[in-house]
Amino acid sequence: MSERAADILHRVFGFNAFRGQQQAIIEHVVGGGDALVLMPTGAGKSLCYQVPALVRPGTGIVVSPLIALMQDQVDALCQLGVAAACLNSSLDGQAAAEVERRLLAGALDLLYVAPERLLTPRCLDLLDQVEVALFAIDEAHCVSQWGHDFRPEYRQLDVLHARWPQVPRIALTATADTPTRAEIVERLELADAACFTSSFDRPNIRYSVVDKDNPQRQLLAFLAGHRGESGIVYCLSRRRVDETALALAGHGIEALPYHAGMDAAQRAANQRRFLREDGVVMVATIAFGMGIDKPDVRFVAHLDLPKSMEGYYQETGRAGRDGEPAQAWLCHGMADVVNLRRFIDQPLAEAGDDIDEETRARLEQRRRVEIRKLDALVGYCESLRCRRQVLLEYFGERLERPCGNCDTCLDPPQSWDGTQAARMALSAAWRTGQRFGAGHLIDVLRGKATDKVRQQGHDGLPTFGVGADLDERDWRAVLRQLVALGLLEIDIAGYGALHLTEAAGPVLRGQQAVLLRRPAARAGGRSRRPKPAAAATLDARGGALFEALRAWRARTAKAQNVPPYVVFHDATLQAIADAAPDSLDALAGLHGVGAAKLARYGTELLAVVAGEPAPATATDPA
Ligand code: ADP
Ligand code: ZN
Repeated sequence: MSERAADILHRVFGFNAFRGQQQAIIEHVVGGGDALVLMPTGAGKSLCYQVPALVRPGTGIVVSPLIALMQDQVDALCQLGVAAACLNSSLDGQAAAEVERRLLAGALDLLYVAPERLLTPRCLDLLDQVEVALFAIDEAHCVSQWGHDFRPEYRQLDVLHARWPQVPRIALTATADTPTRAEIVERLELADAACFTSSFDRPNIRYSVVDKDNPQRQLLAFLAGHRGESGIVYCLSRRRVDETALALAGHGIEALPYHAGMDAAQRAANQRRFLREDGVVMVATIAFGMGIDKPDVRFVAHLDLPKSMEGYYQETGRAGRDGEPAQAWLCHGMADVVNLRRFIDQPLAEAGDDIDEETRARLEQRRRVEIRKLDALVGYCESLRCRRQVLLEYFGERLERPCGNCDTCLDPPQSWDGTQAARMALSAAWRTGQRFGAGHLIDVLRGKATDKVRQQGHDGLPTFGVGADLDERDWRAVLRQLVALGLLEIDIAGYGALHLTEAAGPVLRGQQAVLLRRPAARAGGRSRRPKPAAAATLDARGGALFEALRAWRARTAKAQNVPPYVVFHDATLQAIADAAPDSLDALAGLHGVGAAKLARYGTELLAVVAGEPAPATATDPA
């Protein structure tokens, strides 16, 4: 049985080996078993149902809530020579009738269906008349009403088991928290299914955090290493999105804005360009992302702090779905923490006194949960440890050794004995009455006699000027870390004033030492980083042949009205550029070149490799 699966993997998909648990899952489903698959984004979930659908007789039915993506998925399969189609509300009557005809004729390997469509009596009757190879329930977490993607129709999918008990079902999701998993099992009646859980690590993503200093300049410096690559820049506010997109465009970067305040048509047009063109940078609020499964997003940059580790993990997870090196870059500053805390406190503050006890208790509980989540993220940013270890621990996973692919691993931060500085800062907060934010405290510590300092008489305090040895940026880092360490807390009702916590006592009394992280060298300062592997890849990628192949792909994709990655992924173009094959046989062995694509594009590719001028293709209308 598994020989067939391996053969299909090779012949149809052009891949050499299964990844992770794919093989075990595929064997299980091919054998008729039900499965629950929990795998992070980009790990290769689709293959887990596509291959069994091809091995087993009949049509594989894929339930997916993401109508906008179905066509791309179907296009990608058709390129591989797989007979695939979809049924959803975007099809007109005639097109839908044609799909139904092919289904009834047994001519489809895979059929993607929107859940509401599947549940219609008409569709269920239709399925009674054909052989069903399996049911795949993609994005299975949509069954959970606690998640943000709740889809009521998913609750009714238990009908599949009742009506076709002998057809294997495979439910897949990248959301793995325990309550959601339990809900999937219960609602979809998967108690007897085999559960396949993978590590949620995304080893190809390199995590890094920088101290916010001059965010726009820092972003430009970061983007300079990613010219021509697709990426997402997340900002907290719409205004910031617009400003940033404009500024990037001013520097010759292909940047487009995306947020909920924009005209819907413009938003859709921008999203389409991001998906369809190479090298577009989307500057967006978190409104952008649901269902974006563009595989070749090379970086996700956060110009502002996300709200939680969950949010951070989900947003950064949009990078590198193709498994190729990708970057998650976060610019972190204290002002963001204050801002986010303000958002968190808002509902309770706005509710005022007119609410009953129960509502108040509920809002208060929610506020505490959100504060804890934000604290965890701030702790992550300020951590001296491997980022990946901290990240995975938060999600209940243990990584034995530091990862070697995050900023703290590649460029270990220096720690320093910050006990003295911590005592100065805590004492400055205490002596000024715990009524002031970071800016004012730093002025006092550094002995800057501003108007405010003089008005408050703070220039007469014993702490005035005791910290002149450290510059403003150093002090910002100290204060941020004291918050992250739980020695200071931000009082939002007090406009971001810094309060001492109980934990500050022992430090102030000199009973406890404080180890701090030394801020990274300033941008433009000494070059601290060994040249990362990704940069080497970039050099190769920049090669003339790779560029020629990319241009060929852009033309070809455009002529067929599909996104470029549907024709070939970057990794495949890279493999071709590296191998420079001179025959169809040599081309056939390369990653991502299956039989259908070889037949369809082989000759053209060899011509590009041979450096022949691009033919004026009849298929290219532009
Ligand atoms: P997911 O749905 O889990 O986010 P996909 O199914 O979209 O992930 O797969 C992610 C990427 O990995 C795709 O580009 C896919 O072609 C590639 N991929 C999946 N399995 C393999 C494999 N065994 N070998 C090589 N590439 C693979
Ligand atoms: Zn690491």
